[in-house]
Amino acid sequence: MTELSSGPTGVRERTGATAAVWRGPGSGFTVESQPMPRLAAGEVLVRVELATLCGSDLHTIAGDRPTPLPTVLGHEAVGVVEAVGGTPVASDGRPVVPGQRITWTIGTSCGRCRRCRRGVPQKCESVRKYGHEAMTDRWRLNGGLATHCHLVAGTGFVTVPDSLPSSVAAPANCATATVACAARRAGLAPGDTVVVTGCGMLGLTAVSYARDLGAEHVIACDVDPARRDLALRFGATVACPPGALEEAAKDLGADVVLELSGNSGAVESALRVVGLDGCVALVGSVSPGPDVTFAPDAVVRNLTRVVGSHNYTVEDLAEAVAFLVRTPHRNLFADLVPEPYALRDIDAAVAAARSGAAPRIAVHMN
Ligand SMILES: [Zn+2]
Ligand SMILES: [Zn+2]
Repeated sequence: MTELSSGPTGVRERTGATAAVWRGPGSGFTVESQPMPRLAAGEVLVRVELATLCGSDLHTIAGDRPTPLPTVLGHEAVGVVEAVGGTPVASDGRPVVPGQRITWTIGTSCGRCRRCRRGVPQKCESVRKYGHEAMTDRWRLNGGLATHCHLVAGTGFVTVPDSLPSSVAAPANCATATVACAARRAGLAPGDTVVVTGCGMLGLTAVSYARDLGAEHVIACDVDPARRDLALRFGATVACPPGALEEAAKDLGADVVLELSGNSGAVESALRVVGLDGCVALVGSVSPGPDVTFAPDAVVRNLTRVVGSHNYTVEDLAEAVAFLVRTPHRNLFADLVPEPYALRDIDAAVAAARSGAAPRIAVHMN
């Protein structure tokens, strides 16, 4: 059920916010007025321009991924700063100020715990993630599917130039930054041959980003011929179905394999096709799946490295935005996001996203 709550006058209060509140698979969304937060030091109130629905939102909505309730889903978003508490600082060291267009990290980090100190702030012991936390009196606007989002201290802020269309910028803080982090962890270098398995939003981004970093060959692998065609437009030098991947990798090598599909067969294949001294980055397997088998002797003798990569750091997010600004594929990225739905039509937006009609479905907040 979707309804728009209104104030005593029947008119939505201009001073309030509106959020699509999720109360679980049995209850769905209600679009409701919410009070504006009082900002503490280091906090930012952002007016959301556009949010895009990511696969993990759909997992939550389907009931596959438990989440505390009620909550405001959505974490891929871009917006304009409306107010700040104290003097929050962006990734470039400059203060965050009202009127500035920003994106923000999916999670907070304390900067002090053991995990933060060893360089994995995305796994901070006290991480709080947008779109994945229960609404509380103190923190109600904690997801992207709302007119406003309350960004708490410990969030990383990255400036987004006005020239970048919101449809291109919104996926930066999940899809693009996740790809940038995985490529960094895999050590992707100029001249590499890169294999990308799974050509949805992350895969197409990975194809384009690998070429941007100077990969000589990018082999894009997907079961869907339409996605393979898209991958070629994003710069893949070869696009093949899973059955042809081994042959393609034999011809061109495979220095880095970015496994983005989460399919267990694709994981096994990634470990089989990776070349000598190559790296397999596992990114797509974000929820439990069937066990996979691999030949340990091949891993040893081929000097294979395997890295897992989940979420990203604020530096990866800054790199993601910089990539989206410099890529020659900006229009192609914009084409992945059809005309946005209004927040009040959240149920239709979710239905479109679930149908797989496009790599990303967007929601605007006007
Ligand atoms: Zn920490
Ligand atoms: Zn996401």
